[in-house]
Amino acid sequence: MNRDTTATPVVTRVAPSPTGPFHVGTARTALFNYLYAKRVRGRFLVRIEDTDKARSTKEFEEDILDGMRLLGLVCDDMVRQSERVEQHAERLRELVAQDKAYVSREPSKSDPSVEVEVVRLRNPGTTITFHDEVRGDITFDTGELGDFVIARSLRDPLYHFAVVVDDADMGVTHVIRGEDHISNTPRQILIQQALGLPRPVYAHLPLILAQDRSKLSKRKGATAVADYIAKGYLPSALVNFLALLGWNSGSDKEVFTLDELVTAFSLDGVQKGGAVFDVVKLQWLNKQHRLMLPFEEQRNLMLSHVHGVEGVYDALSNSEAAMHDILERYATGEELRTAVDSGEFSFYERRPEVTREMLVWKKDPTPERAGERLAHIVELLQTIDGDFTTDTVREALNEYAESEGKGNVLWPMRMALSGKDRSPDPFVLAEALGTIETKARLKAAIVACS
Ligand code: GLU
Repeated sequence: MNRDTTATPVVTRVAPSPTGPFHVGTARTALFNYLYAKRVRGRFLVRIEDTDKARSTKEFEEDILDGMRLLGLVCDDMVRQSERVEQHAERLRELVAQDKAYVSREPSKSDPSVEVEVVRLRNPGTTITFHDEVRGDITFDTGELGDFVIARSLRDPLYHFAVVVDDADMGVTHVIRGEDHISNTPRQILIQQALGLPRPVYAHLPLILAQDRSKLSKRKGATAVADYIAKGYLPSALVNFLALLGWNSGSDKEVFTLDELVTAFSLDGVQKGGAVFDVVKLQWLNKQHRLMLPFEEQRNLMLSHVHGVEGVYDALSNSEAAMHDILERYATGEELRTAVDSGEFSFYERRPEVTREMLVWKKDPTPERAGERLAHIVELLQTIDGDFTTDTVREALNEYAESEGKGNVLWPMRMALSGKDRSPDPFVLAEALGTIETKARLKAAIVACS
């Protein structure tokens, strides 16, 4: 019997096991449960499944809860499975008393010479069909499961039993979780039936795949949410990205805030096929979300990744134009840092070594005039009496560049300032380097041309 969802307020839950850091799979499940509940003004709960004492830690629990807060997935209540031992035991006794389960003494699997006591469910062995909101009807023949074990002892229920009791006690109406749990569902339904509990609505989310369509794993790239935050991804961009891992709005819109997702989300938009974790898309989304922030905030985000690289830090904090150039080119602080570390911005750190050959534009029909032009650029820059900015520098040189041919003037200037053919334009470089350094570099280039 499916729950009558029209009458009951929706309650969803995410049930992470604190046996590892908050990873993107759990974050996606948490998000979908949050969105589904909030869309219909229902409740979104968290259950920490910490009964595996050997592998569960407080640090992982905190990492999961902190991560959820950071993403804005505020829950309405939280329970720990380990604190519900009494409730589990009571339900287990109830089943045994009704002879729906029984204590069985049998040889231990690990050491057949030892006899252990387990609790087994009396499995009626029927065919079970449940409706999955994503995949439609799913049928299992439960006969082959036999009288499966539901507890190691009357005080130590196994995972499936605890999940069923907890979901029922928490009033969970919708179980939205990863596809890897589909095969667990028939066992859980058999336990529900034995306990006379209502069946929640099920929705199993598609697997998250690495770029090569294999299973996403640490070896294929970062899987922990904290790693993405450390790389400089914005929580809002991660949320947007996670929402699109297996769901689409049915429109062309791809950039969503959390509030917009709450309005747009529905289980109808969840796909069956695996969802590829496309880092390029994540980078693009990060840029879209970052561009929504005030310039100051964007600047601080980027600067926090180049701390300690003095020349670069100074250039980017002193020049808005240089920062704008960076904001256009890089999605995250980590990308910027990688470029900086590979020397792409070495010209902000030290004066480049330039040769005559580098300074002459290859299409210049009058290469002997390169030095002369650089000297004229210096003269024109002397006429700037206000701020030395991209605009004032451009204005001072505009007419000359037009009359001499842009490439003939701007190429040697860019080379003199950066020593690179791929760099910000010479006006941005001039602003970032400042008047004294700009002129000094131009003069050094004049010497190189002579
Ligand atoms: N604890 C399970 C996990 O981390 C989730 C169980 C469930 O959602 O039913 O995968």
